[in-house]
Amino acid sequence: MPADESTTPQPAPRRIVVLAGGVGGSRFTRGVLAAWPQAEVTVIANTADDITLHGLRICPDIDTMLYTLGGGIDEAKGWGRRDEGWLIGEELAAYGAEPTWFGLGDRDIATHLVRTQMLGNGYPLSQVTEVLAARWLADLPRLRVLPMTDDRVETHVLITDSDTASGRRAVHFQEFWVRLHAAPAVEQVVFVGIEQASPAPGVLDALAEADLILLAPSNPVVSIGPILAVPGIRGALRTAGAPVVGFSGILGGAPVLGMADKLLPAIGVEVSAAGVGRHYGPRSGTGILDAWLVDAADEAAAATLAAEGLPTLPMPLLMTDPAATARFVTAGAAFARPPRPAA
Ligand code: GDP
Ligand code: CA
Repeated sequence: MPADESTTPQPAPRRIVVLAGGVGGSRFTRGVLAAWPQAEVTVIANTADDITLHGLRICPDIDTMLYTLGGGIDEAKGWGRRDEGWLIGEELAAYGAEPTWFGLGDRDIATHLVRTQMLGNGYPLSQVTEVLAARWLADLPRLRVLPMTDDRVETHVLITDSDTASGRRAVHFQEFWVRLHAAPAVEQVVFVGIEQASPAPGVLDALAEADLILLAPSNPVVSIGPILAVPGIRGALRTAGAPVVGFSGILGGAPVLGMADKLLPAIGVEVSAAGVGRHYGPRSGTGILDAWLVDAADEAAAATLAAEGLPTLPMPLLMTDPAATARFVTAGAAFARPPRPAA
């Protein structure tokens, strides 16, 4: 509805929370920062991709977020450090040290050394992340990155494997994705440790105090899925005073990048913008969304979902640059917070 004399547009949001994974979540966050240059933005980052390799604790999604927003990312790949060197990996390989399938660059390793040492000294991941962010986000004090939890949670994937007696095998999500290239059939996705996890300090307060909550178009199964599965977070979304707006990462029936199409069927969700919208569900029912954005290519799904009770807006959702992303997040917020009747 266009604003006219009889309506006042909603004021710009001042406190925004973004639920995010790695590459998609970081691009999205860039757009959110561009859309509202005055807003304070809190990212609740997925930590279920975390893994320990060569004694180093690695948090891929947090690091991608810090590197991307701090200007340290390899822009072409979308992850890892730019100007990266690979000497340490070569030396590890020369020792035959396993695994060799996970690329660890020299600059990146410095991050993991700082983190691993601090964790070993008893600091929780949220405080470690603050220390890492003090470097990367020094020029961006209005952005805060919180791990979803300080507790250890890891996504494992149960894959079909005819070489084992049971015909199946559990592998860490990183092994499934990086080493096996998401090729094996997926029977189940398990977030090991999630039942005992609690939201990291600041997470529930940020959700309660937000005036806008956004679900990035991150992988619904292994990025947004674990965040929502941390006991307490889903409930906090359902009771939040702020509108909750989700953005589809499935465009025209396929993910823009990544392996969501391999994982969605394993949790019984159709690989489509409509399928993911129904999976999150409307807050007016038992779900978490007040509004759902789908790509212009999925316009037909918008009408169907709206009829089912999920207000859905179709528009171009490609994150070609922060300005393009800013256009659709602004539209999403306006859709969820329409202009009010003038006083
Ligand atoms: P990861 O943790 O590095 O895998 O990254 P995320 O989970 O944060 O993001 C991956 C998801 O982002 C994938 O499911 C993609 O479909 C989605 N994605 C990537 N680029 C775009 C884009 O330009 N537009 C939209 N709408 N989704 C995107
Ligand atoms: Ca990830």
